[in-house]
Amino acid sequence: MSACEVCASPVTRPMFEKLAHQFVRCGGCGLERISPQPSNETLAKIYGAHYYDAWGLHDNEDTVGNLKKRTFAYVLGKLPDPAPGTKLLDCGAATGFLLEVARRLGYDPYGLELSEFGAGEIARKLGPDHVYCGELSDASFASALPGEFRVITMCDYIEHVRDPRHTLALARRWLGQGGTLAITTPDAGSPSRRLLGTGWTHYKIEHLYYFNKRNLGRLLEDVGFTQVRFFPLWKSLTLDYIGHQFEVYPHGALTPFARALRRLPQPVRTLPLPFTTGELLAVARA
Ligand SMILES: [Zn+2]
Repeated sequence: MSACEVCASPVTRPMFEKLAHQFVRCGGCGLERISPQPSNETLAKIYGAHYYDAWGLHDNEDTVGNLKKRTFAYVLGKLPDPAPGTKLLDCGAATGFLLEVARRLGYDPYGLELSEFGAGEIARKLGPDHVYCGELSDASFASALPGEFRVITMCDYIEHVRDPRHTLALARRWLGQGGTLAITTPDAGSPSRRLLGTGWTHYKIEHLYYFNKRNLGRLLEDVGFTQVRFFPLWKSLTLDYIGHQFEVYPHGALTPFARALRRLPQPVRTLPLPFTTGELLAVARA
């Protein structure tokens, strides 16, 4: 078993097994992770053509897009007001909803996205010179996009990467002095995690790491970030969207409850409401 990404402790405690994958917690800093990590083949199957089905994009693209944009507006609202043309890079930009909000706020937004489907959508929205299909560590990244950004965002991203320390160190490198990093990720110290235990809805095979505020703050400072602040993440969701999520990611107790919600009158089901879903928002200075 490999040493901890955050504190280098070799001591791990087994937590539970899910779909033949072992989830463990670091004995030093409490970082939770899957060990050993799923193979490339396993992850490729998860990230296949249907990955975005959980968003319900095929059914109702406008509604889902509007919910995502409200959440991203909340995230960007925690950052300093941008001067016009401020360069922003969104890592794991998916189909570019955050980038659309950023452009509206006056940023010059760029997207980094692994999936060709997502990268294609971003190219259509912002132009091919504003998207890079690949990873931050690729040798060709700097020549494809501007080398330096004032803001880097990672929403639901850092828990997916194989090497978060290396990824955050690269983000620090691509951020100019005084630039800002914003991260949203599941919070293993959240009330929803304590309430749901091993049935916590964020425990998925494609989520390789589960941080809490303490160990994420420590990792950010280790790679050179300062002034790390945490906020609860308020997501805009509808009861319809939540119901759809629990169909795609079934949960013994919550799926029947979510189905019942979907039988409520349409105006109630489609009203955007603020929810905390056990995720944190971290903002740090470079
Ligand atoms: Zn640790």
